[in-house]
Amino acid sequence: MNRKYTIKLKIELCIQPLFCSICGLPILPNQQISLDHYIPLHYGGSDTAANLLPAHKICNTIKSDLMPVEFEKSKRELY
Ligand SMILES: [Zn+2]
Repeated sequence: MNRKYTIKLKIELCIQPLFCSICGLPILPNQQISLDHYIPLHYGGSDTAANLLPAHKICNTIKSDLMPVEFEKSKRELY
């Protein structure tokens, strides 16, 4: 990731309201945030911005290393 893109991403993350990519709820300032790997590292996902989405830390822990399709199937049971 080049420096210009990194800075742009940081600014966008600071300005825009953040929503959890897993549960869809807003991430409030008093909640712990983490970056979800959309495609888990275990399945060959990368650490690039295109594969990283903001998420509540607890939601990311629950999602663990499930692929997006696998997680969507089990999401109704979790939420
Ligand atoms: Zn969440």
